[in-house]
Amino acid sequence: MDLEIYDSTLRDGSQGEGVNLSVADKLNLTRDLDWLGVAYIEGGWPGSNPKDEEYFAKVPELTLEHAKICAFGSTRRARSGAKDDANLRKLVEARAQVTTIFGKTWDLHVRDALRVSLEDNLAMISDSVAYLASETGRPVFYDAEHFFDGYKANRDYAMQTLQAAHAAGAQRLILCDTNGGGMPWEVTAAVLEVARMLPQARLGIHVHNDGGLAVANTMAAVQAGCIQIQGCMNGVGERCGNVDLTTAIANCELKLGKRCLPEGHLQRLTEVSRTVWERVNLIGPTNQPFVGRSAFAHKGGIHVSAVQRNAATYEHIVPEAVGNTRRILVSELSGRANIQAKLAILHPQIADPQVVASILEDVVQHEHTGYSYEAADGSFDLLVRRRVGAFRQMFTLHHYRIHGLGTEEVDHLVEATVKITVQDVLRLVVAEGHGPVDALSHALIEALLPAYPELKEMHLVDYKVRVVNSADGTAARVRVLIEHRFGHESFGTVGVSENIIQASWIALQDAVEYALNRRADAQRLTAAGGA
Ligand SMILES: [Zn+2]
Repeated sequence: MDLEIYDSTLRDGSQGEGVNLSVADKLNLTRDLDWLGVAYIEGGWPGSNPKDEEYFAKVPELTLEHAKICAFGSTRRARSGAKDDANLRKLVEARAQVTTIFGKTWDLHVRDALRVSLEDNLAMISDSVAYLASETGRPVFYDAEHFFDGYKANRDYAMQTLQAAHAAGAQRLILCDTNGGGMPWEVTAAVLEVARMLPQARLGIHVHNDGGLAVANTMAAVQAGCIQIQGCMNGVGERCGNVDLTTAIANCELKLGKRCLPEGHLQRLTEVSRTVWERVNLIGPTNQPFVGRSAFAHKGGIHVSAVQRNAATYEHIVPEAVGNTRRILVSELSGRANIQAKLAILHPQIADPQVVASILEDVVQHEHTGYSYEAADGSFDLLVRRRVGAFRQMFTLHHYRIHGLGTEEVDHLVEATVKITVQDVLRLVVAEGHGPVDALSHALIEALLPAYPELKEMHLVDYKVRVVNSADGTAARVRVLIEHRFGHESFGTVGVSENIIQASWIALQDAVEYALNRRADAQRLTAAGGA
């Protein structure tokens, strides 16, 4: 491996607004990150809270193939020896494969935050590193907090702190842009200088994104000689986040030709990114570089026809390299070429220009009533199937009903009843949920599970409502967009109605029908291949 990826999603990332990870979440994320193939996973700060201590107690039970687990903490307190320091003892007791500690680099912080002399701070750094190295018998990494600010303010002192950590046995010196305001050229100059002064040291970079330059600063540091990249998946983290490792990894592998992950693992990047968004319970931006849903989405007619001839015309890399997929966006404006291009991906057997024209007609008509297929690949696929006679109806709805439960204890639970016939069996199911869509989704899936157990893999990721043609006043319609994940695939469906529940039902029904139709295609292909 040319570069070491050090993931801090579980520690620095969990300090991002809205991110709140349970021990179970952290263990699951550890598995995901190991599957991706990162070298190091920073699991938490054992001295800071019981949850992190529990994590370190449980994580040895996981069988990990690639990643080493790191415990994070700080240098010893000012006025106690290293062996009497409770936090350092917790770090030793965590028995992690690597211990990472941070210390102060910036003289301003030493004086005003720590309130100790500059000499005392140097002693705190070297004592702590030496103590942890001898007590654990394992590698110690040193995070130089505020390195770039300290380097600007008092270069000699910043260098002395690094020397202290290096001489005490730190195996990596990680240069941190803790406040995230650095510029790439400053990073380049400082890293080159450290490499010149400490030629034996192995350097890492840890930056935040406050200036929107975290990826640029990371790339600059790598070009200047850093061999370790610290960051978080999807750029979660304090304030504007840590560097987004998905972008940094893809750039290093594809643009610098530096290997960060085991052979073939870069294709796992998109899946891991989406799984992490779900586990941290945030919705990722669709235009996230490399792994976002829109990263390879083409809408403009000229772009679409050019990409069909040669994808390199409007794509900087092939989407498959990072496990993403090209998407052609269909709308009445984009016209026939986009529909043709989309069919080439979804249903390559459909080439008849008349069929294509009739599909476009359907799209135009539906969009007129408030539909939009741009983010609803699933609903578009069903529209095509219905038009060409390839749609298989998986169940028949008799009715659904929603009841709000306004009891003393529960004020937001909703009950949904769904009555359907599936494979000639009448099924009536009642389920609860937080809100009508959640309840309907539970009831529908439960009613279908006996016939289609594969729906266990399906879950709702996102739900959006928008009022369309609101100029009509009372007759305003709502458009509901739902995103689901089914196995490795994620897709959107859409429903429009004057009634929000009905619009949601249409989108939900589409989601289930789409998933089952796709699965039926796949099974047919496998059967044909086996015959
Ligand atoms: Zn940080």
